[in-house]
Amino acid sequence: MPELPEVETVRRGLLPVMEGQVIAQATVNRDGLRWPFPEGMAARLTGARVNTLRRRSKYILADLSTDETLLIHLGMSGRMLISGQMLGSFHHDHPAPQKHDHVVLDMAGGARITFNDARRFGAMDLMPTATAETHPLLAALGPEPMGNAFDESYLVARLKGRNTPIKSALLDQHIVAGLGNIYVCETLYRARIAPATKAGALTAKQVAALVPIIREVLAEAIEAGGSSLRDFRQADGELGYFQHSFQVYDREGQPCVTPGCSAKIERMVQSGRSSFYCPICQR
Ligand SMILES: [Zn+2]
Repeated sequence: MPELPEVETVRRGLLPVMEGQVIAQATVNRDGLRWPFPEGMAARLTGARVNTLRRRSKYILADLSTDETLLIHLGMSGRMLISGQMLGSFHHDHPAPQKHDHVVLDMAGGARITFNDARRFGAMDLMPTATAETHPLLAALGPEPMGNAFDESYLVARLKGRNTPIKSALLDQHIVAGLGNIYVCETLYRARIAPATKAGALTAKQVAALVPIIREVLAEAIEAGGSSLRDFRQADGELGYFQHSFQVYDREGQPCVTPGCSAKIERMVQSGRSSFYCPICQR
């Protein structure tokens, strides 16, 4: 499932072929994905210029010249493919249409952007740009983890007195937007905090230390995505999924990477999600 860094990687991959470009032809091949597509989506997209391509949490938002904003959510298995344009020194011909190509955007610049989603948990919607922040999927989101509103005093205030485990608190999209299971596991390992610790039991100093760690973990993953972007472009034009090495995530039974620590990474289930942690380093 794509997390914030993967979505940011997809956004950056789409930037050169979408931002500032006109959608010459939008083709919509089904009525909807997770939810129905908005009425007349193909017609409303066709002819629109993409003024800005931005990201909020795990959503990509394209602000259009029609004063509407296109929201794109990759869901569990959504993929974006670019074809038909020079990308670096490589050229991808338009591939034969695939079974799960649900939305195709032919850009005036010559690129074709295909949204393929086999499991159909993805979403696309259109809303007035002026009220985009009040869209049901966006309205309740907390601040962006990389943004200025997410700082030490904010997080200390939000976690104060909370009885929930820190793992669950950081996954709570009302507290901070876009953090998922993988990067919360990595953050807590670096912060040396056990995932089951009650959020309210942490000292203000421990909570404050989480903020730069969260940013660092995400920035490293976005950086890894950036390097993979070049490879993906060269490979097949598909954006978004990249190999990234984790220190605890999915490493159950493997040695802790902290120098001098002889423990093995353990896994436990919290609220139905796997938490990976070092029983020695994280207290
Ligand atoms: Zn350890």
